[in-house]
Amino acid sequence: MKFDVEKFMAEIIAKNPAEPEFHQAVREVAESLEDFLNDNPKYIENKILERIAEPERVVMFRVPWVDDKGEIQINRGFRIQTNSAIGPYKGGFRFHPSVTLGSLKFLGFEQTFKNSLTTLPMGGGKGGSDFNPQGKSDMEIMRFCQSFMTEMFRHIGPETDVPAGDIGVGAREIGYLFGQYKRLANQFVGVLTGKGREYGGSLVRPEATGYGTVYFAQHMLALNGEEIRGKTAVVSGFGNVAWGAAKKLHELGAKVVAISGPDGYVYIEDGITAEGVDYMLDLRASNKNIVSPFAEKFGAKFIAGKKPWEVKCDIAFPCAIQNELGIEDAKALVANGCKYVVETSNMGCTAEAVEYLVANVEFAPGKAANAGGVACSGLEMSQNAEKRSWTAEEVGAELAKIMKGIHETCVKYGKSADGKVNYVKGANIGGFIKVADAMIAQGIV
Ligand code: GLU
Repeated sequence: MKFDVEKFMAEIIAKNPAEPEFHQAVREVAESLEDFLNDNPKYIENKILERIAEPERVVMFRVPWVDDKGEIQINRGFRIQTNSAIGPYKGGFRFHPSVTLGSLKFLGFEQTFKNSLTTLPMGGGKGGSDFNPQGKSDMEIMRFCQSFMTEMFRHIGPETDVPAGDIGVGAREIGYLFGQYKRLANQFVGVLTGKGREYGGSLVRPEATGYGTVYFAQHMLALNGEEIRGKTAVVSGFGNVAWGAAKKLHELGAKVVAISGPDGYVYIEDGITAEGVDYMLDLRASNKNIVSPFAEKFGAKFIAGKKPWEVKCDIAFPCAIQNELGIEDAKALVANGCKYVVETSNMGCTAEAVEYLVANVEFAPGKAANAGGVACSGLEMSQNAEKRSWTAEEVGAELAKIMKGIHETCVKYGKSADGKVNYVKGANIGGFIKVADAMIAQGIV
């Protein structure tokens, strides 16, 4: 029995039409796993990849709500419960107009491998809505969250499915979602992560994704005898993940020369300051989804309508959204001497860009580099289960340990004979094994 990527993909595409991002995510994993599967036929015989690519359950529902003008609005809500072989479904909610069934299926698929890489007992899932928080009042956001949770609450639970934040879902939204869950379920439980400190949230969770990706970058650099101090970095986005990455990079002595938004990018010649890092939080909270006010406030240059990949740097951190970095961007980065691309958004680079970057720089895929966020969510679940809070030092030390472990896993499964590490291959094989072995042990379910 041989694993044939093209045959497998033809079935995936026929079964899941019009879901290009899902096809992209599945193809990347299938290509990475091809040789490994052929060397380990038990995974082929058990049709493990075919089973992972079919979510265990998909929930899709109407989310009606009333805006500030009294007009009725209708959005669509989703939860993709991809895989529960190694723990309850776990993964964020995304509120963004680009959200579709297919985009969440790709995210749930990625999450399954990512969560496995953390070594914590978390299955994979993802959810969200095509609701656009941009320009909405606080009360509109609250009413939307309450309506969304009114249906969602029956599908989730601390031992079943534990959602969290993602694009468009931060501490404010998690608070409203948690409040409505508690009211409906009549239970105060750790059903969501990314909660506020006052009601069961974990220290370091807000910073965790951004910190984690920088820790991962440090390990990549160390393999080449380099360090982060003194390096020039470009970060895309200005939300929670970009903020955490910029904060840690600044703290470690790297120079962050660009951040970006859907409106363009800000070039910060001398590097972002601590005040600049803090201001990123105000920008996100303003619900305007533009980065240009940063340039006005700090006298930096704003380049409208452009992506930051044209800026010269040593390390690039795509921290915004899927497929934000294409082949031309990848070529521009390499031409400008960039040596490391640490994908921090989920599938932030197109397939073409990934192929080019793997061949030309050190490239880490999002499912490895951005796993610090969900890892810290796993630590929040542990704290909730034992009804206590760990110190920032305890959580921070665990996070650093987990990121080091993920890097080691990538090296273990991704190192080729010439010593070069293919992090994409390493992450995909490393994430697959635990899920696959658990699925075989549990029978055909
Ligand atoms: N949305 C984040 C991710 O893509 C975090 C998920 C979580 O904490 O459950 O991994």
